[in-house]
Amino acid sequence: MKFDYLFRNVTVIDGSGGAEYRADVAILGDRIVDIAPSITGEAECEIDGGGRVLAPGFIDVHTHDDINVIRFPEYLPKISQGVTTVIVGNCGISAAGATIKTQVPDPMNLLGEAEQFIYPTVEAYSHAVEQARPAINVGTLVGHTALRNNQMDDLFRTASADEISAMRKQLKLALQQGALGLSTGLAYASAFQSSTEEVMALVEELAAEKGIYTTHLRSEFEPILDALDEAFRIGRHGNVPVVVSHHKCAGAKNWGRTVETLKLFDKVRQQQDVSCDCYPYSASSSTLDMKQITDEFDIIITWSGPHPEVAGQTLKQIAQSWSMSLHEVGKLLMPAGAIYYNMDEQDVRRVLRYPVTMVGSDGLPNDPMPHPRLWGAFPRVLGHYSRDEKLFPLTEAVHKMTGMSAARFQLPERGLVKRGYYADLVLFDPATVRDVASFSHPKQPAAGIEAVMVNGVMSYGAGQQVTGRAGRFLRRQA
Ligand SMILES: [Zn+2]
Repeated sequence: MKFDYLFRNVTVIDGSGGAEYRADVAILGDRIVDIAPSITGEAECEIDGGGRVLAPGFIDVHTHDDINVIRFPEYLPKISQGVTTVIVGNCGISAAGATIKTQVPDPMNLLGEAEQFIYPTVEAYSHAVEQARPAINVGTLVGHTALRNNQMDDLFRTASADEISAMRKQLKLALQQGALGLSTGLAYASAFQSSTEEVMALVEELAAEKGIYTTHLRSEFEPILDALDEAFRIGRHGNVPVVVSHHKCAGAKNWGRTVETLKLFDKVRQQQDVSCDCYPYSASSSTLDMKQITDEFDIIITWSGPHPEVAGQTLKQIAQSWSMSLHEVGKLLMPAGAIYYNMDEQDVRRVLRYPVTMVGSDGLPNDPMPHPRLWGAFPRVLGHYSRDEKLFPLTEAVHKMTGMSAARFQLPERGLVKRGYYADLVLFDPATVRDVASFSHPKQPAAGIEAVMVNGVMSYGAGQQVTGRAGRFLRRQA
């Protein structure tokens, strides 16, 4: 038999969480066709792994790459980490299924400008992805805030019965067109006034189509246990799986409380399907939020509409040079983006280690000074947390970014190195893999990622260049 590619002498970490093993792996077309201690046969291209790790391509379950993955289809920030699939549409904001009338409400402005929202349906979005042919696969959630913005003239109230029924219709259509589920961003002012019942009504549509519910909780600060309880109740109401997005305990008064939140997860997991994702940093990033301005920790301004010149400075520095209070400065900078050093490292570790935590970057691709998670989240888990800090074995680190994620988000035949599965693969050196992106120099490809294959096409490798684009739109499979 003649293969397209033959990886010789690799250490397979297959994504299941099971033990690693030495093997040869053969690729034909877009599939893995053989895995054996020694494969006889020829290939168009043989790659000597030299004992390095061959793993399933990483699945970034939490992204805001909706528009950028179409505008910049090489998508270096992600493919250079070994990511082969992104899930977009998180935190209540999606480009798919969104129509902008005049202004892009916060935080949908994280995704792009008004004229870039040109995908009124998931169908339109999927065509655009297929046409752009990005380097990575793309699956989308539909955002609750996007649905609200489609149907409501005022986001700062609960939706009426008519508006809810219009949102339900749009959600149902989106699911039928292949959306993976519904996301909410209840902490943001543009969704905060929605009632639990409003979200419960939408989740009923998910149940019928077996979609997933992901949520940026109503609060990640002191009321976090109530916010978790709300998310779990919503999941129970629809009998749908719940993913708590970027789980954290934010704010100095809240530090250490992941002991409590994970205890609640333990308890609830015995009765329903709940999990979470997490990015491996103790600083968060989003649009600048007046409610989160504090002198308890540093806040870096990453962009500002009226004052682009302050990007990269702390709010405190700007306040000093302008002789104003933090809040006065915040008001003048709006709309703006920020990095908040608002987490405790021990909380980050506890969440990352938790058995049902997946890795998601939450990277913000339009930021001129992005949080380094955009370029570094996955190699940071492999290098810093697994190898250097020994938080968990490499097999578990890989499982949290591959097999577990594909199972949760129902991406069949992906997420494992397994015969018959799609050839989404990453070859990396476990001794040197690391995140190079830093807070001061955030736009840098990872070290140690040697080759990335997407759907059987060699897509990234030597010289840190994109060498192919074979990404597909991934539709929900009931
Ligand atoms: Zn979020």
